Amino acid sequence: MTRPFLLILESNPATLQQMKRDLERKYGARYRIIEASSGSEALVTLRRLKEENEPVALILTDERLPDEFLERARRLFKDARVALLTTFDETQRAIEAMKEFRVDDYLIKPCRPAEQKLYPVIDDLIADWEARPVVEGLRVIGSRFSPAGHQIRDFLVRNCVPFEWLDIGRDETARKLLGDSPRETSALPVVVLPDGTKLIQPTNAEIAEKIGLKVRPEGDFYDLVIVVGGPSGLAAAVYGASEGLQTVLVERHAPGGQAALSSMIENYLGFPAGLSGADLARRTVAQAKKFEVEIVSPQVVTGLRTENSSPVVTLSDGSELRAHGVLLATGVEWRRLDVPGIYKLVGAGVYYGGTLAEVFFCRDEDIHIVGGANAAGQAAMHFSRYARMVTMLVRGESLDEGMSRYLIDQIQKTRNINVRLRTTVIAVHGEKRLEAITIFDATKNEKQTIPTNALFIFIGALPHTEWLEPVVARDDHGFILTGPDLPHGHGNGHVPKGWTLNRDPFWLESSQPGIFVVGDVRHGSVKRVAAGVGEGATAVQFIHQYLASAER
Ligand SMILES: Cc1cc2nc3c(=O)[nH]c(=O)nc-3n(C[C@H](O)[C@H](O)[C@H](O)COP(=O)(O)OP(=O)(O)OC[C@H]3O[C@@H](n4cnc5c(N)ncnc54)[C@H](O)[C@@H]3O)c2cc1C
Repeated sequence: MTRPFLLILESNPATLQQMKRDLERKYGARYRIIEASSGSEALVTLRRLKEENEPVALILTDERLPDEFLERARRLFKDARVALLTTFDETQRAIEAMKEFRVDDYLIKPCRPAEQKLYPVIDDLIADWEARPVVEGLRVIGSRFSPAGHQIRDFLVRNCVPFEWLDIGRDETARKLLGDSPRETSALPVVVLPDGTKLIQPTNAEIAEKIGLKVRPEGDFYDLVIVVGGPSGLAAAVYGASEGLQTVLVERHAPGGQAALSSMIENYLGFPAGLSGADLARRTVAQAKKFEVEIVSPQVVTGLRTENSSPVVTLSDGSELRAHGVLLATGVEWRRLDVPGIYKLVGAGVYYGGTLAEVFFCRDEDIHIVGGANAAGQAAMHFSRYARMVTMLVRGESLDEGMSRYLIDQIQKTRNINVRLRTTVIAVHGEKRLEAITIFDATKNEKQTIPTNALFIFIGALPHTEWLEPVVARDDHGFILTGPDLPHGHGNGHVPKGWTLNRDPFWLESSQPGIFVVGDVRHGSVKRVAAGVGEGATAVQFIHQYLASAER
C-alpha cells in the first residue's frame, strides 16, 4: 500500500528541519514526511497530492499562518488530522483556533525531547486517522428511506465498520451488483461482502458474524459480567480486568453506548479540542481489549436472576452467563414523540437520537431537530456542517433552560441554525417516507406545515428496565436504586427490605447483593460521560470488597 503523507508547515527553518528529522526517525517507514515553509507552498503541495489521489494523514501547521490556509487544507483533505505548532506564550490563541477551525490538537515548539513532547501527540493523531471509516469492500444496497436500511447503516457506523452505501434508486453499481435476480431486487437491503457473498435482508447479528465480531461469549462463568458497554460499563471493564477480574461485557448495538452518538464531546477531561463519541468508544474498546476484556456484541441481555445467591444473566439466544458479580449499566433511551403519523416513519425520515449514519444524506437539505438540551444542540452543530438549514424546534422559552453555555454560544454564531422557541411538532406526514411536519408556534399561536425529509428527535430519556423486575428495586420512573437510596426495611437498621446480609449495601450496589449499578440508569446519577466513567471505576472497588467478604 502507498505510504500516506505527513505535512509539516513551519516558517522557522531550524524548527522545520528538526521536526522533520524527528518525524522521519519514528514514522519514516510508514509515512512520507514532506515540508513547506509558507501557506501558499503547502497549498500547492496539497493540491498536487489531491490530484494524484494520494492520502494525507496529518498536517502540522504553524499557528501564526492565516486562517484561510486551514480552511482550504481542510476542504482538500477532510479526513486529515490537523495540529497547530505553537509557542508556550501563544497557547491560548491555539486553543481558541482549535475551537474555531476544528483543529485536533496542538504542540508546543520546539517539541523536544520528541519522545515526550512530539511522539505521544502524533501517535494519537495517526491512530485516529488510521481508524477512520474507509471503504474496504463491504457494500450495502438499499433505499435511503427504508427503516431496515437505516438499521444496517446505524449498526455499521456505530461499530466503526467501513462500508459503501449504494442507493438502489440512484446508483448504477447497485443495479449491476444485483443483476437480474428478482429476489434480491425485491428483498432489500442486501449486504455484499468483500468476497462477493450477498446477505439478503440480514439481521445485525448475521452481519456481525460475517465481519468477525464476537456475538457469543466463550465461557459460561466469569468473575464479572458487565451488562452493556456505554462509557460507565467500559470504564468498569477496564478497571475490573486491569485488576485481575475475568470480565465479559455484553452489548446489544456497539460498545460506546449513547456517548458514541455524540458528534463532539467538549467537556471530557484531557481533550481540549473535544473528541467525538465514536473516537472515545474506539479508544476505550482498544484499552479494554488490551486488558483482555471479552466484548460480546451485538447481543441483548434479556434476563437476570439469582440462583444460590449468585447472579445469572440470560442472553437473547437463550444462553446463560453465571458470575460472582454483575454490573448493570444499561443507560437510557430517547423518549418517543407521540404525534399522529409518526410510528410508520421511524427510520424513514424520523430518527431518535443523533444517528450519525444519516448525516451524509442531509447534505444541502433543510432538516429539523426536536429538543433543546445538550444532545440536541450538539446534533444541530454537527448537522450544520452538511445541511443547508438546521431548524431546532424547542418547546421551552429559551435554550438556557437545558443547554450548556458553550453550546448556546456556538449555535448563536452558526448562520445556518435557526432556533424556534415555544414550538412543538404536532404531526408528521408521509406514507413511505417523511415528507412534511406540522408545528405549532405558541408565540404566534399558529400552525404551520413544513416540507422536510429529516426529523431528529432528542426529547428526554428514560431507562428501559422493566425486564429487571422484580430482581432489583427501581424508582417510579424505572431508574435503579442503589446504596443509601434503597427503601429501608422497618426495624432493620439501614438495610433494604428483604436484604439478608449483616452489612449495608455499598453505595453502587442494588437491592440484590453482588449486583451493582452505574451510569445513567442509576437513580440520582449525573447524566454525563465523566460521571459514568467515575462510577464504573468506583464500582470495581466495591466489587472487590464484595468478593473478599466471607459473607455473600
Ligand atoms: C447525542 C448525545 C450527546 C451527548 N453529549 C455529551 C457530552 O458532550 N458530554 C457528556 O458528559 N455527556 C454527553 N451525553 C450524555 C452521555 O452520553 C451519557 O451520560 C453517557 O453515555 C451515559 O453512559 P452509560 O454508560 O450510563 O449509558 P449509555 O451510554 O446509555 O450506554 C448504555 C448501553 O446499554 C446498551 N443496552 C441497554 N440495554 C441493553 C440490554 N438489555 N442488552 C444489551 N445492551 C443493552 C445500549 O445499547 C447502550 O449501548 C450525550 C448523550 C447523547 C445521546
